[in-house]
Amino acid sequence: MADRYDVVVIGAGPGGYEAAIRAAQLGLATACIDDWTRAGGKPAPGGTCTNVGCIPSKALLQSSENYEEIGHAFGEHGISVSGLAMDVARMLARKEKVVGQNNDGILYLFKKNKVAFFHGKGAFAGKDGDAWKIAVTGPGAAQITATHVIVATGSKPRALPGVAIDNVRVLDNEGALAIPKVPKKLGVVGAGVIGLEMGSVWRRLGAAVTMLEALPSLLPVVDVSIAKEAQKLFTKQGLAIHTGIRINDVKVTSDDVTVTYDDAGKPVTATYDHLIVSIGRVPFTGGLGAESVGLAVDERGFVKVDDDCKTNLPNVWAIGDVVRGPMLAHKAEEEGVSVAERIAGQKPHVDFNTIPWVIYTSPEIAWVGQTEQQVKEAGIDFRAGSFPFTANGRARAIGDTRGLVKMIADRGTDRILGVHMIGPMVSELISEAVTAMEFGASSEDIARICHAHPTLSEAVKEAALAVDGRTLNL
Ligand SMILES: Cc1cc2nc3c(=O)[nH]c(=O)nc-3n(C[C@H](O)[C@H](O)[C@H](O)COP(=O)(O)OP(=O)(O)OC[C@H]3O[C@@H](n4cnc5c(N)ncnc54)[C@H](O)[C@@H]3O)c2cc1C
Repeated sequence: MADRYDVVVIGAGPGGYEAAIRAAQLGLATACIDDWTRAGGKPAPGGTCTNVGCIPSKALLQSSENYEEIGHAFGEHGISVSGLAMDVARMLARKEKVVGQNNDGILYLFKKNKVAFFHGKGAFAGKDGDAWKIAVTGPGAAQITATHVIVATGSKPRALPGVAIDNVRVLDNEGALAIPKVPKKLGVVGAGVIGLEMGSVWRRLGAAVTMLEALPSLLPVVDVSIAKEAQKLFTKQGLAIHTGIRINDVKVTSDDVTVTYDDAGKPVTATYDHLIVSIGRVPFTGGLGAESVGLAVDERGFVKVDDDCKTNLPNVWAIGDVVRGPMLAHKAEEEGVSVAERIAGQKPHVDFNTIPWVIYTSPEIAWVGQTEQQVKEAGIDFRAGSFPFTANGRARAIGDTRGLVKMIADRGTDRILGVHMIGPMVSELISEAVTAMEFGASSEDIARICHAHPTLSEAVKEAALAVDGRTLNL
């Protein structure tokens, strides 16, 4: 392999590997370095997302949802099943297979696009004239130089002070995705996106799940109507959600974890088979040699970048979870592609106002743009319209009428400011709202678009009609 590159990307998560592919597509000599390793020593590109994040969590969510559906929803379709059983080892093996397919897919894409891949840890090792020297240590050890460096080193779980993650009893996302048998009692500290998804997996498989959330309400970043509906639905499913709690003590034995916490001022002691700690993630720059070259990071450890992902160092860029903005795979990808294009002399743009958010609970939650709280706080005069899935024919046919779609539009211009959903497959429905907002659409535009019948997407059209007080099916 060559030792001089136009672009070297450090980290092959969704941000890094897509940046590398795009740079190579644009004719730049590109290398990507990543240190994630599979059992057996093979490289595992794809980062947090592929190995212990988006992909394995969705694999387990699907398995557990299938199990719950068969157990609870098939009866009314006239389908009876006896001897229903859950083989957790097989479910986990399937998840690993899905992860492995994605790792291999990225290695294939690197080959196809002529991206040189180095398996190991990449670190800044000074300069060679204007170029950056990068030392790779590990299986693919090498000394390479790069005209441009893209730092895409991602994030790691935030620790609960004084509580060690052993991934046996006290689990981070990695351990939560690999519990070998369904726990009887599972505690989850942090009822954010990851906590809710992991809690849902194990609840569906039969665990009694208690969510312990420090904030005074569930999902404060979500639109208020959607968060209220979510709390109602999740509680009905059996997730015990406690908000406004304060953890005082965590004691771990070889068999269980005992947590002492204050709930509305009252001391509570509870014992769980496992405790998942999902209180957010922090940027990761360990071993990158950032200090040695003076790469500026802020007080929270994020690499400092401008709107174009430029750092304080010449020709050094940073993208994804290691920089400001939402910690989402698709945000990392957009930044990665835009940096590659900028290096190649193009003028790309990432619109942070139209980055969709999804929580893959059942029902799913998805949104784009501003919430009602934010619009009110900004003093914007707005109109909002909602449409429930109870009034949607396809939802009735599917047998899942939970949730609603809500659209918020500027009262004067009718421009869509935000779209918020909770319901079946809203992770897919949100794309229509993203597209509309990206093109500066009004609610009237959506209301006048022909939506196929019967589809769940008709709920989006009806919510748009509701903005003007003229739903047709409610
Ligand atoms: C349980 C869970 C579920 C999630 N689900 C979703 C979801 O459904 N949708 C979504 O959008 N987001 C989801 N996320 C968030 C998503 O995983 C991240 O936003 C995304 O992975 C960030 O991508 P990235 O490229 O910035 O970094 P990462 O994916 O963290 O990748 C960074 C890579 O760089 C490597 N690395 C670090 N330092 C070095 C070095 N010095 N040398 C070589 N390699 C290095 C790391 O080992 C890693 O492979 C989830 C996260 C978790 C934990």
